[in-house]
This record gives sequence, C-alpha cells and structure tokens, in this order.
Amino acid sequence: MSLSMQILEILVLVFVAAVALLLLTALTFFIVDRSQHSDAIRRNYPVIGRFRHLFSSLGEFFRQYFFAMDREEMPFNRAQRDWVERAGKGKTNTVAFGSTRGLNIVGTPLFVNSAFPPLQDQYAKTEPLVVGPDTRTPYLAPSIFNISGMSYGALSQPAVRALSRGAAKAGIWINTGEGGLAPHHEEGGCDIVFQIGTAKYGVRNDQGGLDDDKLRAIAEKPHVRMFEVKIAQGAKPGKGGILPGSKVTEEIARVRHIPVGKDSISPNRHPETYDFPSLLAFVAHVREVTGKPTGIKTVMGDKAGIRGLFEEIARQGPDSAPDFITLDGGEGGTGAAPMPLIDLVGMSIREALPRLVDLRDEFGLHDRIRIIASGKLINPGDVAWAIAAGADFVTSARGFMFSLGCIQAMKCNRNTCPTGITTHDPHYQRGLVVEDKEVKVARYADQIREELETIAHSVGVAEPRMMRRNHVRIVQDNSESILMSDLFPPVHPQDAVTLQAT
Ligand code: SF4
Repeated sequence: MSLSMQILEILVLVFVAAVALLLLTALTFFIVDRSQHSDAIRRNYPVIGRFRHLFSSLGEFFRQYFFAMDREEMPFNRAQRDWVERAGKGKTNTVAFGSTRGLNIVGTPLFVNSAFPPLQDQYAKTEPLVVGPDTRTPYLAPSIFNISGMSYGALSQPAVRALSRGAAKAGIWINTGEGGLAPHHEEGGCDIVFQIGTAKYGVRNDQGGLDDDKLRAIAEKPHVRMFEVKIAQGAKPGKGGILPGSKVTEEIARVRHIPVGKDSISPNRHPETYDFPSLLAFVAHVREVTGKPTGIKTVMGDKAGIRGLFEEIARQGPDSAPDFITLDGGEGGTGAAPMPLIDLVGMSIREALPRLVDLRDEFGLHDRIRIIASGKLINPGDVAWAIAAGADFVTSARGFMFSLGCIQAMKCNRNTCPTGITTHDPHYQRGLVVEDKEVKVARYADQIREELETIAHSVGVAEPRMMRRNHVRIVQDNSESILMSDLFPPVHPQDAVTLQAT
C-alpha cells in the first residue's frame, strides 16, 4: 500500500474515532441530563440545554467586546474605562466628532461654561487642605483626589505595592481598607489612611476589641496620617463578613492579627457603637490614642437618620465632631457583597452628598468636618460634580483598579482575577508588573486633577475648590436641566455666591 493510502486510512480511522467519541459523550450527557433533578432545561432538553449555560456565560464577554455600545455597560461603560486606560498610559484624552454621551439622561450633570473664563495667568493652584487642625498631628492633605479603601487580602500583593508606589509618585493618600496595614502599603512611602473596620483588623485584641497599644504603634508610623472608623460601606451597609480560613495565609494573619487558617468573622457593626453618643465617644478615643485626625466612613440611608449625628455634635460641642466624614454611595463596591445590598440599600452619592454637605453647613461645621466623597466617581466630570456639590476631597477605588489594568471581568471574589489585581494565585499575579502599573496609577491621578482644573477654568473659577452648585446643571425627566443650586439650595453663605477668578 502506498504511503498516501496509509495516511488516508489513518485519517479515516481518526475521524471515525472522533465521531464515535463525540456520540458517546453526547449519549453520556443525554443520560446525565435526563436523570438529574436540579435543572429543568437540561432535563427537558438534554445536551442542547447545556449550550444555554455556555452562551450565557460567554455572552458577558461577547457583549463587552463586540456588541455593547461605548456608553451601555454597567457598572462602568467602555467610555469611562477607556478614559482611565488612556490616562494611565499618558495618552491624549481628546476625542473626535462630538460627544457619545446621552445628554438628556436624567441626572446627567452639565457644567455651566463662563463667558469669561480665567486666563492662564489667573489660574490658581489647588492648595493642600488641613484635616483635624486641633489634633496633636493635623494632616495637611496635598491632593484633592485619592485612593479609597481596599484591603490587602481583597487586593493582591502586587496590586497594593503598585498603588502604594503610584500614590507616592502622585502625592496622594491610600486608604488601607479594613484589612490592616501591610508592609506593601508602606512600600512606596505615600500618605496612608488607616481604616478601622468592625473586626479591628491590625489593631485588635484576642477578643476582637480595640487594642490601644497596637493602635498607638500604627499611629507612630509617620506615613499614617489619619484614622477612619468604618461604620458602613456602599457595597454592604449593615453587613459583616467571614474571611474564610483558606484565605488566612501567614502573612494575612500577621497583618490582621488573627490566627492562621481559621475563619475570621467581622461583626456587622462596631460592638462599641450603638448610638451617636457612643460613636462620637469611640471616635474621640481613637483620636486621643493616635493624636491624628479621626473620621468616620458611612453610607447615608436617609437625611433624617444622620441628622441625629449632627444634633449630638451640637449638644457636645464642635470638638466632639469627627474630623472628616467619608461618604460612600450606596452604589459602591469593589469586592464580594450580596446583590440586594449592592443594588438596593443606601442612597446614591448623587443624592446623598449634597444633603450631607447641607447638614454639616447647617450646623456650622463647614470648617470643622471635611467631607470625602466616594462611589463611582472615576472620571474628571464625576469628581468635578462632587467638588461642586460641596465635597472637600474625592476618593476612588475602582478608578484606581482600572488604572492597574482591571478589565471589569467581575470575578473579584473568585481568586481568578485575570489581571492579577484581586487574586492570590501567583499564575495570575504574574501579569501585574508593579513597575509598569505604579506609573499608570500616578498618571491617572495626575490626569484627573488636570482635567478637573480644566472644568473649573471652563466654568469661570481659578481652581476646582472654587466651584459651586450654580456651576452645574442637572438634567431632569423632561430633558431640561436645572441648576444644582436650585435642586439642592446651599446652606453655607459662601456657597451662595459665585467666586470668580481673580
Ligand atoms: S479584572 Fe475582573 S476580577 Fe480582576 S479586579 Fe477587575 S473586575 Fe475584578
């Protein structure tokens, strides 16, 4: 038999074997699908029903890459993500042929351009702002835009290192999240805000309470500038959590001060804080032990609810106030949280921020309490809106995750993050090169600040903190826009006037 005939025969045999294997597999699936009880589709449509699962999981990727329009996806659309990516790469963020944004969508902010914007020599620098002026070690915060709380553990080691080094380059702070202070947070030498969660990771005693000696030791580190007592976050207000023992590696255990390999439970609130007086007492205690500005992080459920905090401050006097309030929007969330809490609990930042600012100003605490806004504020327009609404600072978690290369695969809770940001698997972490990403982190922060200034100049003021609510119009459901100052009339007299460039 000739060689070509032999090859043909082998090919036919391989083909027949492949077809037989295929039929055998289909038959096995058919029997399995027909006899299982948990999935009605596969029981009624054996084998074929499996494609539904395949296509719905692949649909996520097809939509992202092929079908979704630039402004369609959630939680962040392609236009928003691309802006961060280009900023991180140092590429120009100019676009051609006009806006792709739907400008008649309810809630869209439109900035009010000035007929006479300041000339370049009239621009002012955004000055550092002091937080906690009466503490033993006030913090002169240099940057208006900073990194929001993300724990080491939720984030990978290279991600935290890149953030820390990028933050140092950009002169911004990084918030540790509730998972304690890891050496990786300190690597870059940037300013650090230490967050105290309900489990008191990093500053806890064996019973899970606050250990003053450990707290003092953290406060003695010069880069640790402020302390934030977290009472709620956007993704899971009112919910604690379990850190499974499998995730409690030796290093995580050392950082968090918990036993290796054992489940660790976070209560759903600080046991010490059961009303506003006890909350203020806890804040005062942390401030006394650390000597550094101490604030709270929360989500606003209702204006009337948080009013009680300000009434209590009014009763006790301004010294009792937290030095800052970080307000998270109910829409926030970087890690794993139950969908009803992510979707349905807590006001969005767009509604809550002006109300909180008004309460602070109504109680005469404008210069006493700094407000830090957080919650899906990842592009310059979002940040400009928050500053105009009355925030003193803006922080972002997911914006900085995008600068690290996050592709919104939304597998942060599965240890299979394809970009190495939220996984402890060294195989995936290999993709995150710290030296490359730290530059992107810094460039992203720089470009946010630069374009924030551009918006400020366009509305006619010399620098972003001079923006007011009458510089922004908000689109209503009849497609017309009205001034934010009409929607949320400002309380502080300073807010009622337009400060023109000097
Ligand atoms: S790439 Fe996906 S899994 Fe990784 S951080 Fe981003 S959203 Fe989470």
